[in-house]
Amino acid sequence: MNEENLAEMIIKCPACGIEGVAKSIMKELDIPHFGKVLETTIQCPSCGFRHSDVITLEQNDPAKYVIEINKNNLSVRVVRSQSATIEIPELGVKVEPGPKSEGYVTNVEGVLTRFEDAVKKALNLFEDAQSQENAKVTLNNIQELKKGNGTATLIMLDPFGQSNIVSENVEVSEIPEEELRELKTGFAHIEDN
Ligand SMILES: [Zn+2]
Repeated sequence: MNEENLAEMIIKCPACGIEGVAKSIMKELDIPHFGKVLETTIQCPSCGFRHSDVITLEQNDPAKYVIEINKNNLSVRVVRSQSATIEIPELGVKVEPGPKSEGYVTNVEGVLTRFEDAVKKALNLFEDAQSQENAKVTLNNIQELKKGNGTATLIMLDPFGQSNIVSENVEVSEIPEEELRELKTGFAHIEDN
């Protein structure tokens, strides 16, 4: 994967409002068998704020991507836009787009790491024994998959066709009408009254 820095700017931090230290970096990534992706990362050393997003320059149709997570597919490239929903049904984990969701370019292992981090955070927040136990089982299952043990299914749905799983082992299909209606898009609703 080739990458090229297009621009680097010092901006006012969108989180803490401090001027002159937060950096916005725009990169162009060229992903084999897919195309060009623009990745923007904002980092603020003052408050620790970090946000990334990707825009794919090639527009696709809304699509559902399904790939088996197994030891041979861990390095498969995943482009997740801000508007995509990702889930692993066997583990009962799902990430839906929200105002804070990030777009990123990673691989199947990287997606598992993001779920792992989220479950670890949840584990610290749960107070009852049952929820903690469930989270520990999920965490263990994710870690086994990362080691290449066992299989599960990775499903990604993007109503705007900005995401992709780049592999000949991926199954691409249209998003069924009723599923499309229920998908969150990540856009906040603003009431005008
Ligand atoms: Zn800041």
